[in-house]
Amino acid sequence: MSKVSLKHIYKVYDGKVKAVNDFNLEVDDKEFIVFVGPSGCGKSTTLRMIAGLEEITSGELWIGDRLCNHVEAKNRNISMVFQNYALFPNMTVYDNMAFGLRMHKVAREEIDKRVREAAEILGITEYLARKPKALSGGQRQRVALGRAIVREPSVFLFDEPLSNLDAKLRAKMRTEITRLHKRLQSTFIYVTHDQVEAMTMGDRIVVMKDGYVQQTDTPQNLFRWPANKFVAGFIGTPQMNFFPVTLRRAEDGSVSVRADGFSLTVPAEHAYRIDENYLGGDRDVIMGIRPDDVRPAKDAVGGDAIKAYVALVEELGTQTLIYANTDEGALMTENSPTAFCSAAGEDAGISAGQCVSFRVDTSKLHFFDAHTELTVKHRIPDCLATARASGGRLNLLGASLALPAALADRLGEGEYAVAIPSAALSLSPAGIPGVAEECEELAAGSHLVRVRCGGARVFVLSDSAVAAGENVALSVSADMLSFSADGREVVSAVPCENRLEGRFARVKEGKERNHYVELDGARLASPYEFSRKMYDRGRSIFKKKLAFAFGVNDAVLGEEGVPVSVEEVLDYGSRRYAAVRLGSQKLYVAFEGQLPADPCITINFDRVRVYDSEIDIRLF
Ligand code: ADP
Repeated sequence: MSKVSLKHIYKVYDGKVKAVNDFNLEVDDKEFIVFVGPSGCGKSTTLRMIAGLEEITSGELWIGDRLCNHVEAKNRNISMVFQNYALFPNMTVYDNMAFGLRMHKVAREEIDKRVREAAEILGITEYLARKPKALSGGQRQRVALGRAIVREPSVFLFDEPLSNLDAKLRAKMRTEITRLHKRLQSTFIYVTHDQVEAMTMGDRIVVMKDGYVQQTDTPQNLFRWPANKFVAGFIGTPQMNFFPVTLRRAEDGSVSVRADGFSLTVPAEHAYRIDENYLGGDRDVIMGIRPDDVRPAKDAVGGDAIKAYVALVEELGTQTLIYANTDEGALMTENSPTAFCSAAGEDAGISAGQCVSFRVDTSKLHFFDAHTELTVKHRIPDCLATARASGGRLNLLGASLALPAALADRLGEGEYAVAIPSAALSLSPAGIPGVAEECEELAAGSHLVRVRCGGARVFVLSDSAVAAGENVALSVSADMLSFSADGREVVSAVPCENRLEGRFARVKEGKERNHYVELDGARLASPYEFSRKMYDRGRSIFKKKLAFAFGVNDAVLGEEGVPVSVEEVLDYGSRRYAAVRLGSQKLYVAFEGQLPADPCITINFDRVRVYDSEIDIRLF
């Protein structure tokens, strides 16, 4: 088994440069994973931590079922291929390939067999007696690959292995490495700054920027559902075009897009994935459109047409790139917000200086929040519905539901906007009736079902496929809903996480030294195992400002533990929560049955995650 798992991995250089932040990834056995991002984003550092060439500041690295943080590089059963080949110049190709095996004291006949097999796979048998300086760049990189192969590792790591090659050779080696992956049936982790390499080689791609993972997904999903503007712009050539716009929902469900110099209409059937909060015409949005989805069309008029002036035309053979601007006066301006690129077929018959109509495929538009740059067109959208509370019941998604006490206590009679996260909905044998409209397989055993209920559309995740047109029923977790009226939130969803600030302390009590988690105004005894994990972080742990995070189900209200004051009980029927004060901090705890007369809290420390608050890294 050569699974690799990175759990909350951080790298901090010199106590301050955060090169990698909270990197999480499960690499499957035999998977081809690519880390991609601009220079300095932390991809090589991550790879080097996997290789054992760089110490891991925090987090866990598992290779197979072995925790490898402190396993020496040579004992990790991995091979790494570097950009500069790292061959010994004075050794022959054969000796370069055999070197690692000789160091591992592998028998001579076995070495010979493996070197010749690898040379055969890579087509370098005839060069075995040559020295590296008598080889071309591509041949040298093959030798470096051969040296990695002969060790028969469970995981191959590649650090920009093709960067030193010219474009033609790079394309050839790309297919060779992909073929090698299929043949060797091993796990490959590959670092590159080249998105074309990433898109053509990876089963899945991790896109990084400034030390943070931006998105991890298949090439197709990154292309179709970029999580933010950075991923949208980084993946795909030519690059996606961006325009500042505002969006407004019309009566018929369509969305009008207003930009400087043009307006578009997204028909209702393509608009329902856009976050409702952005459809009032009052928020700054960035629209994205790929050059392939905006093409010259003489007859384009109306809601999918843009009129623009052509600044430059590049004939690339089978493709023509047209650089245009909706503002004639800005044609020569660099970084003009009204400029865009259109990809047309050959013989587009368009030349610079013309005014041309372009047709936009409005089903392919992307939208991002102008400030956070996160997408506001979600693959798995949450739903914003209107609900009416009256007579102890809630009319939601066309059904009448009994209001649980927690809502009945806080919602007056009237109408509310209800935010329903898709996680709050599930298919169930009985519940809110609806009709499945569409079912899309997201991954094996995970389906996204679009359901129409009442006048609304919602998205539900389901383990099994559902046929379009099938009648379904939905159950809704009321504790995950938030209600607003007149733009003000009246009832928030119950937070599922608590985060408390505090410190770890050692206290002398009589002859003993005991360990505590000290929160502002409260002190919880630290169990042995938790203290041990704290000590693993070194003595400086006692000086650090820490944060302790745990779920609402990871604490117990009872008669034992540290006394707390209960501020509020939220009774959601099947689930009950207490909002309690522990010292000066507030947290939520799920509980069953009755509240004890003198409530106390115990926290399940096995489940607590600890953060260093000052540099915001997760310790464990
Ligand atoms: P990439 O491989 O994506 O180009 P790296 O992983 O090499 O990026 O570097 C990530 C960040 O860490 C960069 O800001 C770089 O300057 C910094 N860095 C890398 N190595 C060191 C080091 N030895 N000491 C201090 N900072 C480093």
